[in-house]
Amino acid sequence: MKILVINCGSSSLKYKLFDMDKDSVIAEGRVERIGENDGIITHQAVDREKVNKTKPIPEHSVAISECLSLLTDPEVGAIESLNDIKGIGHRVLHGGEYFKQSTLVDDTALDQMEELRDLGPLHMPANILGIRSCMKLMPNTPQVAVFDTAFHSTMPKHAYLYAVPYELYQRYRIRRYGFHGTSHNYIALRVAQLMNRDVKELKIISCHLGNGASLAAIDGGRSVDTSMGFTPLEGLMMGTRSGDIDPSALEYVMDKEDVPMANIINMLNKHSGLYGIAGAGDMRDIVQGVEDQKPMHMLAFDMYEYRIRKYIGAYIAAMNGVDAIAFTAGIGENTPSLRAKICDNLSYFGIAIDHQVNQQRGEFELSTPESKVKVYVIPTDEEIMIAKDTLKLITENNNKSKQ
Ligand code: AMP
Repeated sequence: MKILVINCGSSSLKYKLFDMDKDSVIAEGRVERIGENDGIITHQAVDREKVNKTKPIPEHSVAISECLSLLTDPEVGAIESLNDIKGIGHRVLHGGEYFKQSTLVDDTALDQMEELRDLGPLHMPANILGIRSCMKLMPNTPQVAVFDTAFHSTMPKHAYLYAVPYELYQRYRIRRYGFHGTSHNYIALRVAQLMNRDVKELKIISCHLGNGASLAAIDGGRSVDTSMGFTPLEGLMMGTRSGDIDPSALEYVMDKEDVPMANIINMLNKHSGLYGIAGAGDMRDIVQGVEDQKPMHMLAFDMYEYRIRKYIGAYIAAMNGVDAIAFTAGIGENTPSLRAKICDNLSYFGIAIDHQVNQQRGEFELSTPESKVKVYVIPTDEEIMIAKDTLKLITENNNKSKQ
């Protein structure tokens, strides 16, 4: 059975077509610069020639049409007809309190997602547009929404509430939601497989360190805390996001610089983090700067590492223990010096890594046999999780309608 996974961002769209019988990707691609005259399309089906082209992509529906016609192209495609696609899984940023798991999309689900627009103004409009475009182009194909927040819906109330007047939660659902849930879920399940243990018996800290970054404390396979909050701005220092900051400092800056809140939030999202300190938001530039002994790059690296380590310590306390720590995403998978510094500074907990092994790429264990805590690098795979959830919901729905 073929399942298409679509990740629709504000100006780009990524897709992967899975053959679920073989658990493999048979085609993938991306459309970038949506809304521009020089949109970029890249596409690759297994054993077929790669496609790179530039053409105007005025809107998301055009991007999706392009992707569907490439998938069915006799020369470079992967399937004969769109009927071969039995379901489409969409990555959706925010499920609010409506969606505690993935869902088949119907009118009610779409209305609820519309209500959540304001909780993710950068991502939700594009996510919803992607779903609506697919529904128009393939009206008979089931669409499934998989939410970045859903995995964290198991957090206990004492972890997800902010200590502000309770009415704000009652009135506006102001609380920690957490993000990267699909990735953290994948990592927890993969750690359990690698340890040959049931995930229900394990305490795991998953470190998703990409351009956006978050940690999750996962106890018995359930997220019990995570560092991102009401929006992805809270928590760790990130590529361009500040992470935690005292809100009073913001009021102070607003007064001094006479700028509105919107500018401050924009600054915290886009001009802060590694970029705000060192003028470079990409960890590769930071690592190079550290090698070249540039003081601000060294400071940014130290701040980035320190914040992660502090959160790991907090989550060990939150779970009263930890069996495994796993690093994933662009920075987590590719920055041995960061992993080394974090783990060496956690030796109090009996964490020990092999520095030679730590230099490897791909999936591996870097903890030594003596280490009390297992440490892994695990490349994340959000798309396979979305494809599996999509298949599961479609199968359940088909079985229900047969009964
Ligand atoms: P992601 O959001 O998971 O795609 O991660 C993107 C980020 O990973 C980039 O902004 C870089 O900071 C970082 N990254 C990617 N490749 C490398 C690498 N080879 N070494 C260090 N950092 C990397």
